[in-house]
Amino acid sequence: MKYTFEITVAGCNTNCRHCYVSGGPGPYMPLATYRACLEKLAPALEQLEGSVSITPGHEPFNHPEAPALMRMTHVLAPKYYPGEDSDWPTTGIALKSREDRAEVFALLREFGAKHLMLTLHGTEACHNEIVRNPHGFEGISTMADMLYREGMDATFNLMLNRSMIEDWDAVCCFLEEKRCAHAYLTIPAYLPVERLRAFQSCRATYDDCMCLRGRLGYFGIDEARFFQKVERFNEAAIRERALREGWDYAACEQKKPDWAFFHITQNLEFYYGNAGMHTKRLGNIAAMTSEDIYRAVLQQRANYDYSAYYDLPTLPPIQTILALNPLRENYVYPDAEGCLYRWLDQMGIENILI
Ligand code: SF4
Repeated sequence: MKYTFEITVAGCNTNCRHCYVSGGPGPYMPLATYRACLEKLAPALEQLEGSVSITPGHEPFNHPEAPALMRMTHVLAPKYYPGEDSDWPTTGIALKSREDRAEVFALLREFGAKHLMLTLHGTEACHNEIVRNPHGFEGISTMADMLYREGMDATFNLMLNRSMIEDWDAVCCFLEEKRCAHAYLTIPAYLPVERLRAFQSCRATYDDCMCLRGRLGYFGIDEARFFQKVERFNEAAIRERALREGWDYAACEQKKPDWAFFHITQNLEFYYGNAGMHTKRLGNIAAMTSEDIYRAVLQQRANYDYSAYYDLPTLPPIQTILALNPLRENYVYPDAEGCLYRWLDQMGIENILI
């Protein structure tokens, strides 16, 4: 089993329209609270079998004592902390203007970071509109220059949307200018939360994606892989497959990774489920012992997909779903489940998120 524990140590500078972890400005976790959390959590995680990681979220560089927080995690939970394999995602907004950023960069190097991941949504107007911050684009741009000066790479995560496709040449010029080391083209997920419902108007369709044919062979983007996804996970193709093969929700869930997600909030509330996608409150870390935490975690099963959001036995058969969701816009999703959740949402099917 794989376990991921996200600890929200500070809010996010942006408020992205496609965000399913409820990112946005928010309080930070005092350092003493964070210490108390790790002191209880680390011995519990020691007992788990499998791969375990801690993700400090939403934007650790927003924490007023970020260097101390990074050091503390490295001392108290070194095995679980992001290291050289991590993407170190950041909006750049907080880090670029920190007075102690030299110290932060020194720590990043010490922990093996070679690159930081910057998520881009398109040209300036489009980016700022999607992240809902007028300084979002400037944050990315300045951070990319800063990384170059620091001898680190800027990896860009390009979050696909209709405007980005229209502005693709301008996006590529920007990446060139920023000495982009590597880029990924990501199709945003669909999960049954308000932000993603609203994001549908920005979601690219199959026809939109076709405008990118032959134009993706830069910055290490894997064009063949992207179009494999587009062909497989557009709404029309998913419908056609579902009509032919049916859809056994439980059997599909069995094929998903054996991976459980947990979230700890700034006030140490402990939840089963990813940040923003809680399905069960497990307690408050302040009132739990390491043994309590271990037992609470052990009782949960993988929540990677399907039953992470829905009570599967209550879902309607796929034939009913298809009948009530005629093909309109042929949207593209990163997986078949995203499309299924959209259909369920359109029918008003309740999810199990709390
Ligand atoms: S998607 Fe990431 S950067 Fe955007 S609001 Fe959510 S956590 Fe913050």
